[in-house]
Amino acid sequence: MSKPILIVGAGPAGLAAAHALASVGQSAVLVEKAERLGGAPILSGYAKLVPSGEWAKDAIGGMVRRVEEDRLIEVHRAATVTAFSGAPGEFNVELSDGKRLQAGAAILCTGFTHFDSLNKPEWGFGTFPDVVTTAQVEQMISSGQGVRCPSDGRKPQRVAILLCVGSRDRQIGREWCSKICCTVSANIAMEIREELPDCHVYVYYMDIRTFGLYETKYYWRSQEEFKVKYIKARIAEVTSDGEKLIVKGEDTLVKRPITIPFDMVVHAIGMDPNVENKSIASVFGVTLEEHGYLARGNSYANTAETSRPGVFVAGAATGPETIDDSIAQGHAAAARALALMRPAQARA
Ligand SMILES: Cc1cc2nc3c(=O)[nH]c(=O)nc-3n(C[C@H](O)[C@H](O)[C@H](O)COP(=O)(O)OP(=O)(O)OC[C@H]3O[C@@H](n4cnc5c(N)ncnc54)[C@H](O)[C@@H]3O)c2cc1C
Ligand code: SF4
Repeated sequence: MSKPILIVGAGPAGLAAAHALASVGQSAVLVEKAERLGGAPILSGYAKLVPSGEWAKDAIGGMVRRVEEDRLIEVHRAATVTAFSGAPGEFNVELSDGKRLQAGAAILCTGFTHFDSLNKPEWGFGTFPDVVTTAQVEQMISSGQGVRCPSDGRKPQRVAILLCVGSRDRQIGREWCSKICCTVSANIAMEIREELPDCHVYVYYMDIRTFGLYETKYYWRSQEEFKVKYIKARIAEVTSDGEKLIVKGEDTLVKRPITIPFDMVVHAIGMDPNVENKSIASVFGVTLEEHGYLARGNSYANTAETSRPGVFVAGAATGPETIDDSIAQGHAAAARALALMRPAQARA
């Protein structure tokens, strides 16, 4: 029996990689630092996913169950890798739960960290309880409580969704576009309108990036079917008049200042590099790219590779990614790791 392949992180990318390996008879050791598997969609309680419309607990929960029931996958929860040495085919691994093992290859699927809106204080998060994040609204919906103002539990009548919070913002060192938040915000806007038909929902944007086929299903549908209003604007600040939240800025199409009252303001938060990336890079001896994500081989020929032979990477660990792409990258990394372990078979 060949050595197992080590997978670090059990989000969509890591779960996909583990399942792909086991489905061809390759054993895997899956190390997850949280108590539960599933990554951001499960740990942060996402509601209905883009673009499938399936509940995260069903879609990603199904991936978790498939891995948990597979005898070829050894799962370590609440654990991290503390030491990693050796060469492809014979890496030595030490885990924080005391286990030592040998692995033929490793796949890093350590994901991202949600942007902390406290780093954008002028937009009211942390000051006003009814300024919340998209992740919090997802939790309100998935928990079944519905969308309510945290301050007093009332149903909001006017909601503003502010895009690009913690993305495309050079002032706070985050130049990247987080890729999925325009689409997630349009999806949330429709869910709010569906639950609260009397609630007016406004989306404030710099640009709309509902990329690919999402343009029809989210951008246009949210306007035409759900009457969500989109306003191109530069938001300066979110304050309060004691009763309502006040969004101030400039409507950049008509070039006029705006001051508009709302019951709830939602930050469409971006995807930061995993806050642990420096220590992950140090333990595994791999390099980071300029924004702090794990660097991957940048040519078509060596997709899924890191700077260290035998150590592969997949998903949002490499930069903002969707769930679909993270899963696809998990499969790609599994194929690359497998080819390294079984070169003769790979060529047969
Ligand atoms: C508000 C919001 C809503 C979103 N909704 C959607 C959507 O509807 N559809 C969509 O396609 N995408 C959505 N996304 C993006 C989605 O969250 C990511 O595409 C997806 O989570 C990436 O999967 P991943 O496995 O790469 O990383 P993650 O989901 O981040 O999983 C990484 C895992 O690794 C673990 N880990 C981290 N560090 C270590 C370590 N050192 N040792 C061991 N384990 C570690 C983590 O605990 C976690 O379980 C959304 C993003 C946000 C911010
Ligand atoms: S996907 Fe949309 S909201 Fe997210 S960073 Fe890109 S432009 Fe901004």
